Amino acid sequence: MVSSNQTQAAAQLPAVRPPRPSGRPNGQWKIDGPEPLNGNEVWKQEDNGLAVRGRIEEIYSKNGFDSIDGTDLHGRFRWWGLYTQRKPGIDGGKTATLEPHELEDRFFMLRVRIDGGQLSTDQTRVIGEISRDFGRDTADITDRQNVQLHWIQIEDMPEIWRRLEAVGLETTQACGDVPRVFLGSPVAGIAADELIDPTEAIAEIARKFLGTDEFANLPRKFKTAITGHPSQDVVHEINDIGLVAVDHPELGIGYDLWVGGALSTTPRFAERLGAFVAPEQVSVVWRGVAGIFRDYGYRRLRGKARLKFLLAEWGPEKFRRILEDEYLGFTLPDGPAAPRPKTQGDHVGVHKQKDGRFYIGVTPFVGRTSGTQLIALCDLLEAHGSTRLRTTPHQKIVLLDIAEEHVEPLITALDELGLAARPSLFRRSTIACTGIEFCKLAIVETKQAATDAVLELEKRLAGIEAPHPISLHVNGCPNSCARIQTADIGLKGQLLPDGNGGSTPGFQVHLGGGLASVDREEAGLGRTVRGLKVTADDLADYVERIVRRFLADRENEETFA
Ligand code: SF4
Repeated sequence: MVSSNQTQAAAQLPAVRPPRPSGRPNGQWKIDGPEPLNGNEVWKQEDNGLAVRGRIEEIYSKNGFDSIDGTDLHGRFRWWGLYTQRKPGIDGGKTATLEPHELEDRFFMLRVRIDGGQLSTDQTRVIGEISRDFGRDTADITDRQNVQLHWIQIEDMPEIWRRLEAVGLETTQACGDVPRVFLGSPVAGIAADELIDPTEAIAEIARKFLGTDEFANLPRKFKTAITGHPSQDVVHEINDIGLVAVDHPELGIGYDLWVGGALSTTPRFAERLGAFVAPEQVSVVWRGVAGIFRDYGYRRLRGKARLKFLLAEWGPEKFRRILEDEYLGFTLPDGPAAPRPKTQGDHVGVHKQKDGRFYIGVTPFVGRTSGTQLIALCDLLEAHGSTRLRTTPHQKIVLLDIAEEHVEPLITALDELGLAARPSLFRRSTIACTGIEFCKLAIVETKQAATDAVLELEKRLAGIEAPHPISLHVNGCPNSCARIQTADIGLKGQLLPDGNGGSTPGFQVHLGGGLASVDREEAGLGRTVRGLKVTADDLADYVERIVRRFLADRENEETFA
């Protein structure tokens, strides 16, 4: 650890505030009109991001990287899940000083969109083969249920899309100012304790709105989370729209509606509108909330363009009124909040399905897998009688439909494959973002640092029992792709003085954050303690120390938060 002074006051996180009144328009289409007020809005109006697919197929893939138009490369490519990746070997100190093109490699990260995280072995095998054939055998399960591939070349995109689409997968709107992948309960339709299966609701939204012009130009990204499971397993508090199953005393099972959550450098949790959404109303309500964002979202300043800023101005009552009056044309009934989860929402381990078979949640290290591992997993799964699996918002994989007699043999074989169904404390609850290995915004490396720390902690904390999971989330920069403010221990990548006049990779520590779960009543942001920073090399030391102190000082039912 570099320094620690926990007696200092917790640093305040910046507040989420709407743009200051300035007399200038804020780019809200319904109020200010559609005139574009920044460069991104100009090119988004000039040509729909979805249109770039044709140019990739017909021009760029045939003529190579140098033929790609700059606005397509750094803008519209995202509408098809493509970002340029970071050039290897550029240290984090140069992230802020170099021009974007100096950081950029001629290879791409490609995000495969997996709505609800639902995959068959046929689909997973295709992803694995693409990784092996075109992506140097890399693949990451992201914390939004996508699979992210790396080292992709533009020449290979037509063949990659052909293979993906042949098995019903897509990269459509996997990134960009659009509705991103729809998070869905990884145990939808199978868990014995499920309240309602959201699979059809998610499929209906995708069928009606994905890849259409209606929501192809939003102010910024729009994130969706829908769950019918009582563990609230889709991190709905940090999505733009969240629908969480609830049992209404008069109306039966439906969804509790949340809006306006997002993290990044100005985190704000979603708020309940107090409205009950019947299962058959999900796509209509989703369209209304997405429509509000499209029409009223602030487009002048990109830093204020997420839905959370509009919610900060309106508050939940006005938001609900506009939704009902201008978008739905009917009033939603009031509804109750879902009760606090009683089970862990990561679904790791062995659990009973409603049909008597079992599902098994397994842990790759911080989401890192490979094409080879995914293909081997499919072979293994099929050999044990299953063809279905799911990705989770916790960078995990859930294997479905396992007959009782296959459970233990499969777990043994999965262990040999590097996928643990009974992981250690930190292997289970550590996630990490992409980091400097591939991300142009990164300041430090994340995946390997987190993996090394987990392996070390497995040795040092072997045999130690914790009263609940303790989450460790690792980010490579101040953005919050790995949700650092919602972890028991959240680490924000930055360079720290090395004591010799230089710098070394390290992290600002956030403590005590979390989403509603078995060990906390409701979501709370972690506190940034001024001066509490740890170098990457000292990560395991720090985590070991804080866990041992927590366990030693813990009184009664006290939790880490
Ligand atoms: Fe990149 Fe930063 Fe997001 Fe990590 S948190 S993936 S380093 S932008």
